[in-house]
Amino acid sequence: MHVLVTGGAGFIGSNYVRRLLDGRSDITPDRVTVLDKLTYAGNRANLAPVAAHPALRFVEGDIADPRLVPDLLSDVDAVVNFAAETHVDRSIRDSAEFVRTNVLGTQNLLHAALEAGLPRFVHVSTDEVYGSIDEGSWTEEWPLDPNSPYAAAKAGADLLVLAYARTHRLNVGITRCSNNYGPYQYPEKVVPAFVTTLLRGGTVPLYGDGLNVRDWLHVDDHCRGIDLVLAEGAPGEVYNIGGGREMTNRELTGLILEACGADWSSVRPVPDRKGHDRRYSLDDGKLRALGYRPRVAFEEGLAGTIAWYRDNPAWWQPLTLGSAA
Ligand code: NAD
Repeated sequence: MHVLVTGGAGFIGSNYVRRLLDGRSDITPDRVTVLDKLTYAGNRANLAPVAAHPALRFVEGDIADPRLVPDLLSDVDAVVNFAAETHVDRSIRDSAEFVRTNVLGTQNLLHAALEAGLPRFVHVSTDEVYGSIDEGSWTEEWPLDPNSPYAAAKAGADLLVLAYARTHRLNVGITRCSNNYGPYQYPEKVVPAFVTTLLRGGTVPLYGDGLNVRDWLHVDDHCRGIDLVLAEGAPGEVYNIGGGREMTNRELTGLILEACGADWSSVRPVPDRKGHDRRYSLDDGKLRALGYRPRVAFEEGLAGTIAWYRDNPAWWQPLTLGSAA
C-alpha cells in the first residue's frame, strides 16, 4: 500500500508518518510519500526518527499546486490530508492563506483524487467546525457553525470533501478531532507555548476569564483514530475523535504550572481572543463503535510531553527565538 500524507512535516502529520513507519500502526504501507510545503509550521526535524526509512519519500510542495499533485497521486492507494494553516490567532489577523490552503488546496487534492481513481481519501478536520456548545456534545450530524476564519476554512473543506463523495462517489472519510497535545507541537499553540515559556522562567498569558473549555487528546490517540477511519471507516462518513479530557483553560494552566514546578505568579491575564469559542465537546460514539478508545491518560500524557520539551530544547529553541519568555 502506498500512502500519501500531506502536511506530514507538521505536528500531527509527522506523528502519523512516524507511526506508519515505526510499526505502531496496524497499517503497514510499503511506501509513504510526504507532501509538505514547509511553512513556518512544517519542520523536517519532525521526521528525523524515520528519515532514513527506505519506504519514506519527502516532497516539498503545495497541496494547491495543480501540476504537482496529479503526478504524485498517480500510483497512490490512500491520501491522508493533514496539510492546513492551523493557528486560530493567525487566521484572525489574516485569513487569506487559510482559504488558499485549507479550501483551495483540499479542492485541488479532491480533483486529482477523482482523476486518478484514488481508492481512499481521509480528510483530517477539527471539532471547531461545529462552533461552540454550552451543554451536551456534538454528534457528526450537528450543523456546521464555525466562528473563526480558521474554522470556517476547515468547514469549507469538509463540505467539499462530502460533495465529492455525494456527487462523484469518491471514497472519502472525514475525522473531526478535539484539541491535541504531545511532542513536536509548534510552540505557538497553548500547551507547548506555556511549557517552553515556563522552562525559560517566563510568564504565560491566560485569555479572558480562563473558563473556556477544551477537550484534550494526546496526538497518539488522534492518530490511532485516523488509522481506524482509514482502514474501516464507511465511505462518505464523518467520525468525531475525542473523549480525552474536558477542562477549562484555567485547569489546564494549573496542571501545566504544577508539572513545570511553577505557580500562578507565572501567569498574566490578557484580554480574551476575539470571538473566542466558549466550549467544545464531542460525542465520539460512532468511532467507539469501530473499537476506538483513547489510551493516554491526560496527566500521564502531559508529563511525557513536558519531559519531551525539557529533553529537546534544540528542537524548540530556534522556534521561540525572539518571543518573549
Ligand atoms: P501544523 O500547523 O503543526 O502542521 C501543518 C502542516 O501542513 C505543516 O507541516 C505545514 O508545512 C503544512 N502545510 C501548510 N500549508 C501547506 C500547503 N499548502 N501544502 C502542503 N503542506 C502545507 O498542524 P497540526 O496541528 O499538525 O494539524 C494537522 C491537521 O489536523 C490540520 O488539518 C488541523 O486542522 C487538524 N487538527 C488539528 C488539531 C490540533 O489540536 N492541532 C485538532 C484537530 C484537528
